[in-house]
Amino acid sequence: MKKRTFLKLAGAVGAEAILPPVARLGAKNKVPEKLKNWAGNIEYSTESLYAAKSVEEVKSYVAKTRRLKVLGTRHCFNTIADSKDAFLSLKPMEEVVALDATAKRVTADAGVTYGRLAPYLHEKGFALHNLASLPHISVAGACSTGTHGSGEKNGNLSTAASGLEIVTASGDVVVLSRKKDGDKFSGAVVGLGALGAITKATLEIQPTFMARQWVYENMPMEALKAHFDEIEAAGYSVSLFTDWRNKNVNEVWIKERIGGAKQFEAKAEWFGAKLAKKNLHPIAELGAENCTEQMGVPGPWYERLPHFKMGFTPSAGKELQSEFFVPRKDAVEAIFAVEKLHEKISPHLLITEIRTIAADDLWLSPCYQRDSVAIHFTWQQDWPAVKTVLPDIEKTLSPFGVRPHWGKLFTMEPAVLRSRYKRLPEFVELAKKYDPQGKFRNEFLNAYIFGNQ
Ligand SMILES: Cc1cc2nc3c(=O)[nH]c(=O)nc-3n(C[C@H](O)[C@H](O)[C@H](O)COP(=O)(O)OP(=O)(O)OC[C@H]3O[C@@H](n4cnc5c(N)ncnc54)[C@H](O)[C@@H]3O)c2cc1C
Repeated sequence: MKKRTFLKLAGAVGAEAILPPVARLGAKNKVPEKLKNWAGNIEYSTESLYAAKSVEEVKSYVAKTRRLKVLGTRHCFNTIADSKDAFLSLKPMEEVVALDATAKRVTADAGVTYGRLAPYLHEKGFALHNLASLPHISVAGACSTGTHGSGEKNGNLSTAASGLEIVTASGDVVVLSRKKDGDKFSGAVVGLGALGAITKATLEIQPTFMARQWVYENMPMEALKAHFDEIEAAGYSVSLFTDWRNKNVNEVWIKERIGGAKQFEAKAEWFGAKLAKKNLHPIAELGAENCTEQMGVPGPWYERLPHFKMGFTPSAGKELQSEFFVPRKDAVEAIFAVEKLHEKISPHLLITEIRTIAADDLWLSPCYQRDSVAIHFTWQQDWPAVKTVLPDIEKTLSPFGVRPHWGKLFTMEPAVLRSRYKRLPEFVELAKKYDPQGKFRNEFLNAYIFGNQ
């Protein structure tokens, strides 16, 4: 599969000006490319994009701009990152600022991607606790939306954050840390971009490690009823992939930490599933060349924890995504409740992924104070069809207090969503403290976070 090139777009814009669409004209007479998200399903509402190269540039741009949204790597599927007024990209700010080997923490410019940060850390002898399915995303965007990988003992990626440098609406620089600010810091981390422009993030690190992954094919879904806990505990990170057809789990990916407390014994058959004999893509019809190495081949953590390799298209490319978090204790009941909708879901689906995530204390994290299971849907890019199925899934998962992924597609009413986050009123106050006039708000935030406030 071909490498994607459009991630270069934001970086191609100079730091001196907000460029009109015509400035992005490539070849002569070419129609200007509209600014879109990664999947291309959202055409952003403005073409004004300013790319800052330093904190000073961020400060001066923020101070003189009435309303703006900070843009990461544009991998969200909904309008959370959209703006009608102006965008600030921190893509040129992607360097590691400090590595403290003793305190085990790294501070980096917030525009850095995991794909850039992770090899650096490994080379220095360190690792992050987990990664998402892809390394292409920015640290700031991922932490701001509660992005996660899998592993019942692994918190989402935001839980690694121990410090943030933020340029607030006034153009001032505020530094928050877990140590100094405690609970307030927990409010700021999954901040949805509402507190200001994060210019640096400090993340906790640990000694580097090697990992390997095994893939099993065709596990009868029934096996989850009696063995869900055992299956999830089999690896450092476990993902179940299903198309919901024939009560079958199409693939089970087990990511094992080499030298960890418990090693996985890769038998030819496991809970009715067969050990794969070649590398697989989660969507079995697609070739595995953009996927990380499987078949038990050892490799550094950052080349095994994500499913997809840096430099290659992650997932399918032309797709939509939704994801719903329910308490881990309700996992099996929730999975089988969704299974009952298979006739509605499967015709529009590319694949579902089921992952576990440890509870955390971050106010707007979908895993706030509950160990969670996340049921994810990679859809065909057909929003009219998908939006008719989502309400059924949300209704089915409603008894479990479902929370949708902040960066993916959902149809839940704003008031319902707000009711699922008990610290949301405090978050609103925190955001107002740093952004009293709503400079960093957009329609998404106004609807789902601030309501009429
Ligand atoms: C193929 C694919 C696979 C994915 N896999 C996963 C997965 O495994 N797990 C998962 O949880 N999600 C996954 N996602 C969803 C997505 O990656 C995340 O939700 C993440 O937010 C994307 O980060 P971004 O930098 O692209 O953010 P953007 O979409 O650019 O922005 C998201 C939000 O973060 C804010 N933001 C970004 N940078 C800053 C900053 N510097 N300061 C303040 N606010 C900022 C924006 O204002 C916006 O509100 C996937 C997406 C795709 C396309």
